[in-house]
Amino acid sequence: MTDRKTELAANLAKVEERITAACVAAGRKREEVTLIVVTKTHPASDVRILSELGVRHVAENRDQEAAPKAADCADLPLKWHFVGQLQTNKVRSVVGYADVVQSVDRARLVTALSKEAVRARREVGCLLQVALDAGANGRGDRGGVAPGGIEELADLVADAPGLRLDGLMTVAPLTGEYAGREQAAFERLMDLSTDLRRAHPAATMVSAGMSADLEQAVAAGATHVRIGTAVLGVRPRLG
Ligand SMILES: *Cc1c(COP(=O)(O)O)cnc(C)c1O
Repeated sequence: MTDRKTELAANLAKVEERITAACVAAGRKREEVTLIVVTKTHPASDVRILSELGVRHVAENRDQEAAPKAADCADLPLKWHFVGQLQTNKVRSVVGYADVVQSVDRARLVTALSKEAVRARREVGCLLQVALDAGANGRGDRGGVAPGGIEELADLVADAPGLRLDGLMTVAPLTGEYAGREQAAFERLMDLSTDLRRAHPAATMVSAGMSADLEQAVAAGATHVRIGTAVLGVRPRLG
C-alpha cells in the first residue's frame, strides 16, 4: 500500500471503531448508520483510495471543486452528496453528479433543482437543511431553513418532479440556544424528523454529526454521519 492509503485505512478504522462504539452505547445496530466521507479540499486521488477501501458515500460542498472531482471518479461505485450552500446558478452542474443534495433550504432552490433534474432525466434525493439557530422563520448564517419552515418546504420537494424527499440534515449550531449542546441539537433534529415522517413516511434520512460530534449524533438517532477531518486529516487552507 502507498503511504496515503495506509494512513487513510488507519483513519477509517478509527472512525469505524468510534461509530461502532457509539452504536453499542445507544443500543443501535451498526447498519443503521451510514458513513459519508467529506472529501472537500482533498484530491480525486484520495477519493479513489477511499473507494478502494470500501467507502461508498462521499460529500463535497463547493461545485467548482466537486464537478471535476466527480468527473475524474465517474468510474467508481460512489454516491455523491452535496452538502454546501448552493446558488441556483450552480444547480445544473450539481445535478450532473449529485445523488443527494443535503442543503435544500429555500423554495427557489427546489424549483431550480426540479427543473434541472427533469432536464437531466435524473432523480435527485433532497434533504432539508435545518438551521437550529435561525430566528422564527428565517434562515441560518450558514444556510438552512428554520424549523417553522420545514413543513412547507417538504411539501414543495415532495410535489416537485425529479426530486425525492429523503429527510433532514443539520450542522450543530455555534450560536444560539444550542451552542455547545450538540446532543440536544441533534435530538431536536430527530423530533423534527418524527414530525416530518408523519406526512412523508419515506423521508427517513437524518444527517448529523461530523468528526467532533459523531458520537452525539449517533446517540440522538442520526442515520448518516458526515466525516471529513477524522478520515482525511486537517484540510489544506480554503482558497
Ligand atoms: C466539512 C463538512 C463536514 C465534515 O467536517 P469535519 O469536521 O471535517 O468532519 C460535515 N458537514 C458539512 C456540511 C461540512 O461542510
